[in-house]
Amino acid sequence: MERRKFIQTVGTAAAVTPILGSFSAIASNSVGSSEHTFPELPYAYDALEPYIDAQTMELHYSKHHKGYFTKFMAEAEGTDLMDTPMEKIFASISKQSVGIRNNGGGYYNHTLYWENMTPKHTAIPSKLKEALDKNFGSVDAFKEQFGKAAKTHFGSGWAWLIVDKNGKLQVTDTLNQDNPLMDVVSVNGTPLLAIDVWEHAYYLKYQNKRADYVDNFWNIVNWDVVNHRLSKA
Ligand code: MN
Repeated sequence: MERRKFIQTVGTAAAVTPILGSFSAIASNSVGSSEHTFPELPYAYDALEPYIDAQTMELHYSKHHKGYFTKFMAEAEGTDLMDTPMEKIFASISKQSVGIRNNGGGYYNHTLYWENMTPKHTAIPSKLKEALDKNFGSVDAFKEQFGKAAKTHFGSGWAWLIVDKNGKLQVTDTLNQDNPLMDVVSVNGTPLLAIDVWEHAYYLKYQNKRADYVDNFWNIVNWDVVNHRLSKA
């Protein structure tokens, strides 16, 4: 490998590791059980300015996300859910209470959302770009489809890029705190990219202009994390 290429490759790997690494490293100091933790934010509240404002981030993380986690843990306390991975719980969520579904989803979905954003510009890794080109025609066509799902989703919920069990990438959206891992939704798959379209995610800055929040989301997507999720799926 030529030296320049080697430095670029190592540089890319080094850029990914602290983000994913710090998430689990700090999580060991966080509230939770062996299976469930309330994670630290991977960046400061104001890190995603001007696209997401600091006050929204602080309320969203310390009140909304923390609230879902706390309520989930309170309901899971004393049951085998405490030691069950969320992905396994979601696979038969239809057998659980509405509290576990809503708060477990809220806990899990926000962790994915924080993780798939970054203040640092990231380029789309070539393997991910190939997958987007193959499944959507182009990166722009993917962004158009994902953006449309996020902008037009009626009411509270989430839009997703997922990879299904056949390896096909799809855009989907879910109600409330449901996600594509749950057996109650129509399109199942592993989440690669999540955007929260509840009003609490954008209303302080954008008011009724959800479309502007969604368009600005592309400035802060952590493509390395999306690529990493695809490689693990
Ligand atoms: Mn939210």
